[in-house]
Formats: sequence, C-alpha cells, structure tokens
Amino acid sequence: MKEKRGLLIGRMQPVHKGHISVIQETLKEVEELIIGIGSAEKSHTESNPFTGGERILMLTKALREYDIDPSRYYIIPLEDISCNSLWVGHVKMLTPPFCKVYSGNSLVQQLFEEGEIPCIQPSLFNRTEYSGTEVRRRILNDDDWQSLIPESVVKVINEIKGVQRIQKLNKKEISEL
Ligand code: NAD
Repeated sequence: MKEKRGLLIGRMQPVHKGHISVIQETLKEVEELIIGIGSAEKSHTESNPFTGGERILMLTKALREYDIDPSRYYIIPLEDISCNSLWVGHVKMLTPPFCKVYSGNSLVQQLFEEGEIPCIQPSLFNRTEYSGTEVRRRILNDDDWQSLIPESVVKVINEIKGVQRIQKLNKKEISEL
C-alpha cells in the first residue's frame, strides 16, 4: 500500500531531469508528494542564481510538461534558518503533514532521523550530468546545458535572462582578481 504523503526537498538551482525522475519514482510510493523548494530566500549568487519564485515557475511548468497530475503534489517554498536543530520543526510548520522524507542530502537525512521521521535515500539518475552544479557550469561555459533540463525549464531560463544572469554573477570585480 502507498504511504499517504511524502516530502522531497531540493534547492533546484535549476530544476533538472534528475529532479523530475526522482519525483516520478517517489510518486509510485506515495499518494501525494510535498515538494519543498529549499533556500527559497536565496538568489543572485553563483550557486543559487534563481529566486524562489523562479524555481516555483520552473517546477510547475516542468511537472506539467511531464504530465504529472497536479492533484498529487504541493510546491512549498522553504526558507533556510540559522539553527539546524530547529529546522525540522520549521519545515513541519510550513508544510502539510507527511510521514516520510526523500532526500540524498546527508544533513537533511540526519536532521529528520533525529526528529524521528524516516528518511529514504532515492536512487540517483545520471548524477554526473543531472546536477545543478553541472547545469550552471555548462551555462557559464556555453556548453550544452539545455539537454540536462526539461524544455519548459529552458524556456523559463530564457524568459528571465538566466544565462546572462549567471554569466554576470561570475564576473569578478577588478579588486577581487
Ligand atoms: P538538490 O536540488 O541538490 O537535490 C534535491 C534532491 O533531489 C536530492 O536530495 C536528491 O534526492 C534529488 N536529486 C538530485 N539530483 C538527482 C539525480 N540526478 N537523480 C535523482 N535524484 C536527484 O537540493 P539539496 O541541496 O539536497 O536541498 C536541501 C535543502 O535543504 C537546501 O536548500 C538546504 O539549505 C536546506 N536545508 C536547510 C537547513 C536550515 O535551514 N537550517 C538545514 C538543512 C537543509
């Protein structure tokens, strides 16, 4: 029998095909999935170029592109807090009730396990390519980044001039060189 509701948290900087695969696989195990957009307050840095709102837009469009039933997921922005020991309570306050967490991030696993909420490590799909770091690296170097992410996310990145943003964020001030 499927578990009622699970939680998956990711920064999704940006949403890539690995995120879509893990969401599709997890939906085989749970009736509903809460997808938390982590570090929602962060943007305009080299490792977090996109705003929480832009990542919500990417994920909404990508899940529609992959025909994932919208009645089966909730997308919730989750801001970071400075106290790791209080984070699980913070996440619980902002999300619908859930009985299991899906994450490959070891800190996320540790915090939920200490909070007595089971945490599953999902399998990784083509992790060398399907990773936010790799997508951002390719955008910066003008390599093929488009094949790593859903087409609808390519459109969002173009709409918000994401390529120019990442390239500008990487430019160092002369004083920093
Ligand atoms: P991420 O976008 O790198 O990955 C999210 C999840 O997607 C991973 O756990 C993994 O399960 C899955 N995934 C990624 N690539 C995949 C692939 N190729 N194939 C299959 N699955 C894949 O996000 P993350 O860094 O794990 O996000 C954790 C968030 O939790 C961060 O925003 C972090 O700041 C937040 N956090 C906050 C606190 C705090 O505020 N104190 C504490 C802990 C964690």
